[in-house]
Amino acid sequence: MTDQYAVIGNPIGHTKSPLIHGLFAKETGQDITYTAIEGPIEPADAFAATVRTFIAAGGRGMNVTAPFKLQAFAIADERSERAALAGAVNAMKFENGRIIAENFDGVGLVRDIEVNLNQPMAGKRVLVLGAGGAVRGALLPFIAARPAELVVVNRDVRKAEALLAQVASSDPLIACGYRELDTMGQFDLVVNATSASLTGQLPAVAPSVFSPAGAAYELAYGKGLTPFLRLARDAGVQGIADGVGMLVEQAAEAFEWWRGVRPQTQAVIDRLTVPLE
Ligand code: NDP
Repeated sequence: MTDQYAVIGNPIGHTKSPLIHGLFAKETGQDITYTAIEGPIEPADAFAATVRTFIAAGGRGMNVTAPFKLQAFAIADERSERAALAGAVNAMKFENGRIIAENFDGVGLVRDIEVNLNQPMAGKRVLVLGAGGAVRGALLPFIAARPAELVVVNRDVRKAEALLAQVASSDPLIACGYRELDTMGQFDLVVNATSASLTGQLPAVAPSVFSPAGAAYELAYGKGLTPFLRLARDAGVQGIADGVGMLVEQAAEAFEWWRGVRPQTQAVIDRLTVPLE
């Protein structure tokens, strides 16, 4: 019997997940269907009911996107360490009526940076802009990549401080505000994990944070040269990329978790890439 998977979000019309998982299934010969479900916002328990209905109809797993990542966390029976730290879930597996929850956003991001873009983080100075959901999901995978220094900067500094306080690490982790960056010099990798680009805004970073020999990564995707990527390019940074690879890599992690087979990602990334310029 064909196994059923889905992505749930609201709105969901923009999602690329059915296309990505459809391509993975074709390439690996897996017999699955993967649909998009527009989850109900109200009443408060309607999300859980929709997931339960999908499970009862034979559903094997789901991806979760905005605004349901926190609700998915709340209804899970088991949560990975990454999901627990993030307090958010982007993939669920259903086994014997139990909901097992994961968060692959961060691991997909790190894999895109280190493998696809060939920018290993070990021993490097890494600057992350933002301290929202995406950074919560990425923190443990970033620490596991063993940068020499990991600086998390946020407008609301307390959010960055609270996040870093949750992890025990021997690596230097620094939470600060944008003004403090002025005295911190250049970073090998600067990651824009704010949502500023979604509204065409630029976080308050100076060009001096970039190292021309390093890289700049924008989590938003399909938006061409965002103000952040433009700043990096104008500062002479050679390696600039948006988050399409992260999107595909987190999907590949979920696919492997569900199906036990690792799909190839590069052709899918190439297919979804919108040129930066
Ligand atoms: P959240 O809403 O959880 O967090 C938003 C963050 O952006 C906060 O840290 C906020 O700071 C900061 N921010 C917003 N506007 C500005 C601004 N003008 N200047 C400086 N900081 C700003 O968002 P997410 O973490 O979920 O998403 C962040 C980005 O990552 C989005 O662009 C999203 O599309 C992208 N994303 C991409 C994925 C992919 O697969 N490629 C997956 C998941 C997310 P403060 O706390 O001070 O308000």
